[in-house]
Amino acid sequence: MNKRWPGVVAAVGLIAAVAVAVVVTSDADGESLAAQPIVGASQQAAVDQLRTRLLTELVQRRTQALVSGDEAGWLADVDPRREDTVAYERMRFQNLRRLEPAHFRILPGESSLHEYKAAPLEFDILVTQVMRLPEDVRSSANDYRWYVSVTDDRITIGGVDEKPMPVGQDAARSPAWDDVALRTVRGERATVVSAQDGAWDPQAYTAAAERAARRVQELWRSRKSPSRFIVFLADDSQFSSWFDNHRAPMGSTIGVATLPQMVADDGGRYPSQRDRSAGLGSSTKPRYLDRAAGARIMLRMSKIKDMAHAEAVMVHEMTHALGPHLISPDSIDFGTEGRMDQPVWAIEGFARYVEHKSRPGTAEQGAAFVRRNMSKWGAKGFPVNKDFYSEDQDRTTFNYEIGAAFFLAAERAGNAQKAADLYIALTNSTQLTSGFINQDIAAAGLDPDRVWAAYRKLVG
Ligand SMILES: [Zn+2]
Repeated sequence: MNKRWPGVVAAVGLIAAVAVAVVVTSDADGESLAAQPIVGASQQAAVDQLRTRLLTELVQRRTQALVSGDEAGWLADVDPRREDTVAYERMRFQNLRRLEPAHFRILPGESSLHEYKAAPLEFDILVTQVMRLPEDVRSSANDYRWYVSVTDDRITIGGVDEKPMPVGQDAARSPAWDDVALRTVRGERATVVSAQDGAWDPQAYTAAAERAARRVQELWRSRKSPSRFIVFLADDSQFSSWFDNHRAPMGSTIGVATLPQMVADDGGRYPSQRDRSAGLGSSTKPRYLDRAAGARIMLRMSKIKDMAHAEAVMVHEMTHALGPHLISPDSIDFGTEGRMDQPVWAIEGFARYVEHKSRPGTAEQGAAFVRRNMSKWGAKGFPVNKDFYSEDQDRTTFNYEIGAAFFLAAERAGNAQKAADLYIALTNSTQLTSGFINQDIAAAGLDPDRVWAAYRKLVG
């Protein structure tokens, strides 16, 4: 016997003895019902101890294999007879290595033994994969269920399910790297990713991604932000299923930045971190050092008209991605009515305002559209979140453009840097504090009267 697993020998022997005591009942038709194991508490404890030990070593081995680029090591614990699992885990390994994670760790969670019986001991375990991409600011996590069996001193993974829980709304979630083989092209400021067999070559989009990244970073200057961006080129089906984008209204959506929840590097809870240092203006509203792990930008390629369009959409989404500490993954949920939620009009308005900068003439067109429709949709001021993403495409456009016009007015009353500061101030407001916007304008170093005068000039 292998000395590495002394506990196995004792425990398996123990279980074998127990198996003799399994009671099998029969129903009237003579078919056997489920075996009813009779296992003492101390024997169960021995089995549980064994499981804990084997699983701890298993996740450590696999973590090390991924980090060191050892594909054979990664696959060594997978049952070679399970070709589907081997192929799936090989694809995941290659995808994850291409993403060059800055942090990677697999942690064992709850495991459930199928039955206390003789070898093979079969059970499944929930594992958490903690990862931080180079484009992230914090780690985030995905859960998997491994189906594992133990024979003598050997633990083997038979099957792997991604997204095992929770069932319900999040069941559709699937990180791109768990779905299909990916190709990645890494530029100075952005990484572009697509399916290997996808219709869109990431290489063709890297120049546009670099230009978009440079544009938003030059505007953002030295403000807190991730140092890079990651952009996934998706077909319609990938766009609706990758990450947690299944809740987004598909309709005419062309791009999205999804912001994963943060976890600590060891998988533990990592709550939003308040920034208690002196910040923008004299506002006493909470500011944050951290609110989301980063952003996964996706372009819905079927809706992208040409490269200039792709670049403009990347500018928009990268503007969102600048602020994982500014945007809470919880508080801009689609259709939410939470009174304390962040103002979506400000988040989308600022992104549209920056997007306009990449397409000359579009800012004026947007303002003209608002002017024409102000009496129809703008009578009550800026839109509340529940009305923001409307079934009516024109109304949705109006909602984006009225916010964009507000930031353009801030720029005209001051400059683009103050417009960026105003955006930051507004992300710390709630959607229903329109009456207090002047405080945020002042906090950004702008004169409210001048901003509103510029705004009226733009939109009437
Ligand atoms: Zn947006």
